Amino acid sequence: MVTGRFAPSPSGRMHLGNIYAAVMSWLSVKRRGGRWILRIEDLDPQRSKKAHAEMIEDDLHWLGLDWDEGGLENKGSHGPYLQSQRHDLYQHYLDRLIATGYTYKCRCTRADIMTTQAPHQSDGRVIYAGTCRPSVLPCPTFDSHAPGAVRLYVPDSDICFNDLIAGPQIYNLARDCGDFILCRADGAWSYQLAVVVDDALMGITEVMRGNDLLLSAAQQIYLYRLLGFTPPLFAHLPLLTNELGQRLSKRDNSLSMESLRRDHTPEQVLGLVAHAARLTDSTSPVSLNELLSIPSTLFPR
Ligand code: GLU
Repeated sequence: MVTGRFAPSPSGRMHLGNIYAAVMSWLSVKRRGGRWILRIEDLDPQRSKKAHAEMIEDDLHWLGLDWDEGGLENKGSHGPYLQSQRHDLYQHYLDRLIATGYTYKCRCTRADIMTTQAPHQSDGRVIYAGTCRPSVLPCPTFDSHAPGAVRLYVPDSDICFNDLIAGPQIYNLARDCGDFILCRADGAWSYQLAVVVDDALMGITEVMRGNDLLLSAAQQIYLYRLLGFTPPLFAHLPLLTNELGQRLSKRDNSLSMESLRRDHTPEQVLGLVAHAARLTDSTSPVSLNELLSIPSTLFPR
């Protein structure tokens, strides 16, 4: 069965951009009678708040986006659905990656990485220069008690995949991101490891989200392969822009769910999302039911 998911980080109130990803993913799977999972990505203990997760659930209900599994009540058989409760699973798969011999402990600080980074990226991405990488890989030893983050070596070869919306993609992880972190020095799990373990174990077949995560998809496919999981299909949505073509800002308060709910009905908000997604040619109110039958090339068949 087609299984999609929405995986918000409960670090604040949702805004139009989050709603867009949620609506599109929900519509995509529900058009084909699929299953939709709500996973709470609360790995960052400083920024994640239960109250935010509750608001996210309330906003999704208000829009009519009901989930078949997941959420704060951990409904379903693939739980827990809060990343903060999945520590043992992440540790299990980290150990499997360590056993490949392609991980190593890294003691570089952010300042070290900034000064040693490989050629500077115009978009501000920082590419790790491999300072702590062992000279021989796979490396037969790994000192799990040594301080530092756990980093994963990435090969200087192409990762190719066909994104259902963005089309054919080619990334070279050595050039595009460098060896990346699986577990931080303070023990916090990386987004990349957690998302792959969760999507794989929750049986996700389709990941639909914003195209700012295309490079992450390449990193995730690399992890899927190392762990022996089959990757889902990826569908990366074009990011929403305003009339001037500028990316919508999270800081624009009129786009937060708080003001959207104050000034609009659910059908009016869905009308804004549908128009921004080019599903409709006006911002007229529309119901989820109506959106289910509107044709669009954004939806995989
Ligand atoms: N928690 C991530 C975010 O909110 C989810 C990214 C994803 O869908 O993989 O950006």
